[in-house]
Amino acid sequence: MTRLDHPDAPDEEVVAGSASAQPEVMTPREVPLGGPRAMTVRRTLPQRSRSLIGAWCFVDHYGPDDVAETGGMSVAPHPHTGLQTVSWLFTGEIEHRDSAGHHAMVRPGELNLMTAGRGISHSEVSTADTTTLHGAQLWVALPEAHRDTDPGFRHHAPDPVAGEGWEARVFLGSLLGDTSPVPTYSPLVGAELLLQPGTVLDVPVDPTHEHGLLVDRGAVEVVGTPGAAGELVHVPTGRSSITLRAGDEPVRALLLGGEPLGEAIVMFWNFVGRSHEDVAAYRAAWQEQITRDGEVVDDSSEVADGRFGVVTGDHLPPIPAPSLPNARLRERR
Ligand code: MN
Repeated sequence: MTRLDHPDAPDEEVVAGSASAQPEVMTPREVPLGGPRAMTVRRTLPQRSRSLIGAWCFVDHYGPDDVAETGGMSVAPHPHTGLQTVSWLFTGEIEHRDSAGHHAMVRPGELNLMTAGRGISHSEVSTADTTTLHGAQLWVALPEAHRDTDPGFRHHAPDPVAGEGWEARVFLGSLLGDTSPVPTYSPLVGAELLLQPGTVLDVPVDPTHEHGLLVDRGAVEVVGTPGAAGELVHVPTGRSSITLRAGDEPVRALLLGGEPLGEAIVMFWNFVGRSHEDVAAYRAAWQEQITRDGEVVDDSSEVADGRFGVVTGDHLPPIPAPSLPNARLRERR
């Protein structure tokens, strides 16, 4: 626990919003992705109590899954707006295709960052060689000034940086002496961390950033707060370092951070907007593109061009948007 360096400060007092605010453990909920032998993911963001960590607005963690049982990943063409997707794998391989013409193989330890901007559609299918699928699907909300930017895609395979008992792959921003060459639209950091059992690592961080440590395996104390596999440990702004202490097992985790976005967003299905009307319009535009003579087309090559483009080389049936709820979608911040 942090002892405030002040004679009147009581021991172990937590002061909201100050440098001594303690980490908060966010536990996952299991969400089936749909389909006959569907994958189930562990979702830690958004939650009722917290929608954003920096601009990170969505954290799904999955596996290790035996593809023979789950059928692997087969996500047909679907649209996005106002966000970036980060696909990060620990095991397996996923084939990515998008409507901006990018075709990429997503592999462990490599960043694949898709910028939706004003609109993109894409598909993600695990390859035939994949027997175990294990990774995370992360979203970053684009700030107001850039949310209608051009769609795009970036790949980066970070060289690991290492010290005694630890190794890091920095895929966005700067951490532990490495900087990703991939630009971001708001100040962000993202890195995979590996810790040997018993390792204590002080990670210097930007005190204007808040952070979340997604624990993939092992147990780790985050500034004294225990985090278990599957949990996301939120560390508020105001700290210039985050002390990690690995338990008796090797630890693998993702450290995600950024400057608080400071904007209210509206999330629905695969869309990020700023209002109910925004996402209703995105939904209508997607439905229009995938519908012919009142029916959803059964081959993505027959999708009409529009805001979300057409995924080149994909023949899976596009995924229709769910209905909007009766109530207005609420703003998250
Ligand atoms: Mn997607």
